[in-house]
Amino acid sequence: MTDTRKNLCPCSSGKLYEECCKPLHEGKVAENAEQLMRSRFSAYALNLPKYIIKTTHPSSPQYSKNKFAWKRSISQFSTAATFDKLEILDFKENKMVATVTFTAYITQDDADSTFTEKSYFEFLGGRWLYRSGRLEEGHAPNLVTTGQLKLLPLAYYGDPILRKVADPVGEITDEIRALAEEMIETMDACDGLGLAAPQVHHSIRMFVTRPPPAEDEAEKHALGEVKVFINPKITASSSETWRAEEGCLSIPAIHGDVKRAHEITVEYTDLEGKTKTETFSGWPAKIFQHENDHIDGILFIDYLDVQERQKLEPLLKNLEKHIHDGTEM
Ligand SMILES: [Zn+2]
Ligand SMILES: [Zn+2]
Repeated sequence: MTDTRKNLCPCSSGKLYEECCKPLHEGKVAENAEQLMRSRFSAYALNLPKYIIKTTHPSSPQYSKNKFAWKRSISQFSTAATFDKLEILDFKENKMVATVTFTAYITQDDADSTFTEKSYFEFLGGRWLYRSGRLEEGHAPNLVTTGQLKLLPLAYYGDPILRKVADPVGEITDEIRALAEEMIETMDACDGLGLAAPQVHHSIRMFVTRPPPAEDEAEKHALGEVKVFINPKITASSSETWRAEEGCLSIPAIHGDVKRAHEITVEYTDLEGKTKTETFSGWPAKIFQHENDHIDGILFIDYLDVQERQKLEPLLKNLEKHIHDGTEM
């Protein structure tokens, strides 16, 4: 007779390892971030550093190009600690970002190293990846948490902040600089081309953009150049317009054609506090106009014609309902 408890999955699911995290460790893609969280915990417990590396986002603060040293440090942690129990306290997800709050009951060198962390996950290339973590309680081993919060929670359609005219930014303080940095991280994590402060619950006149690289540059650079705009103003717009499809991180899964000025001249303050004047055309101009609307409480769906808007109405209602039910991020 064998002791079946021996084969219980270390992730505390109560299931057998074979029926729980083993298939994931052998290549099955996690269905959601909670499952990934569990399988990462059991990978730490079972000393499977390759799995940890495979499921870490390339822009995670823990990501290391030196895979050999990284693997060794994970292994050292796995062997030095006892992974007593995992408790999932909260799990929220949308299409691209998910959070899992958990308590990991760990003993290290005979001392209790239990900690509670809120982890951020991102859906990238068809699978969930661990992105970063914020320590909520206890003292986390450096290896499994960063103590930093890099991704900001988004405000979704129906949130009144998206309809407010935002306030001008006064002095450019360290807080403003930190917010700009977190907004860039959030925009990148969500694969956005732009993100305005009201979309991350700050009603101030600031936004960040990362237009796609120009076609002739696209092969060299996967990502376009980031810009931070503070107290921006459009000082001139071309009468020439063009139409192209837009989407918005605050209105997931909804797209529509919007007509925008082809070329604009803008004035803004940069992060160093310098006033700048620039002219944009094409996508950079379109993105600027979309983000600039956000700080005036305008959304791209406001430009759709009556018919198109009516078609979207059930989707928008549904989205709003989710938010009021508290099922948003
Ligand atoms: Zn498991
Ligand atoms: Zn938007």
